[in-house]
This record gives sequence, structure tokens and C-alpha cells, in this order.
Amino acid sequence: MDNIYEERLAERDIKPTAVRILILQAMMEHQTAFSLNAMEEMLDTVDKSTISRTINLFHDKLLIHSIDDGTGSIKYSVCRPGCMCQINQLHVHFNCTSCKQTFCMESVSIPEVKLPQGFVLENINFVLKGLCDRCSKIAT
Ligand SMILES: [Zn+2]
Ligand SMILES: [Zn+2]
Repeated sequence: MDNIYEERLAERDIKPTAVRILILQAMMEHQTAFSLNAMEEMLDTVDKSTISRTINLFHDKLLIHSIDDGTGSIKYSVCRPGCMCQINQLHVHFNCTSCKQTFCMESVSIPEVKLPQGFVLENINFVLKGLCDRCSKIAT
């Protein structure tokens, strides 16, 4: 069995039902981070409560990570195999102010931050704003 979607689900201990495979496929085909709304639009044949339950399950199992890009709607993106969403594995996100898309910059790690004594870091939300590679070409 070399279905990449089933493999990714199995890796996170998620039972590979047909609808979960369908949703994961849509997520992986989405080129940028997606919102719940975007998934509902892409998967208009799937029950909305099933989509939101599946997103929550995938998120709990670290198959996807969530991004608060400051636009008011939480975005999600599929994690790389083996990612445990630990601080040292987090990456920078980029929100394009023109096309409004949010990108995972997996090659850009978050700079190390030194906190004053007594502060315990639990999570980092590092979002850059600007023009994406496509929009910057149109702008010039
Ligand atoms: Zn853009
Ligand atoms: Zn990301």
C-alpha cells in the first residue's frame, strides 16, 4: 500500500477513513495555508461539521499546525513528516498583504529569543507581512 495520504494518517495514529483521506488530500493540494472556510469551499460535498471535526483531530494529532496570521481567521497547514510542533521545529509564516495568502516558510526558522528570568516560553507565533513572490512581480 503506497497511498501517501494513508501513510501520513497512520504515522499520526489516525484511522484512515475515506473522508479523512479526501480532506488530507485537499489540504496537501492547497498551495498555501488554509482556513476552515477554504476547506469548506474546496470540499463542498463534505458535511461542514465533519470538516471542522477532522481539522480538530488532525490538529490534536500534530498532522497540521495552526497559524494566527493576524487576519482574524485561523489558518492551518500540513506538518512535515516527523514534525512534533516543538519550539525548535517552528518556522516563520508569511502573510501577503496583496493576495491575502499565508505561506509556511519552512526553510526559515524562528530566531532564538532570550527572555528575562522567570518567563517560560511555550509557543511562538512569528508572522511576517509583505508581498509574496507572485505579488511582488506584479507590483514592479
Ligand atoms: Zn501575494
Ligand atoms: Zn507552517
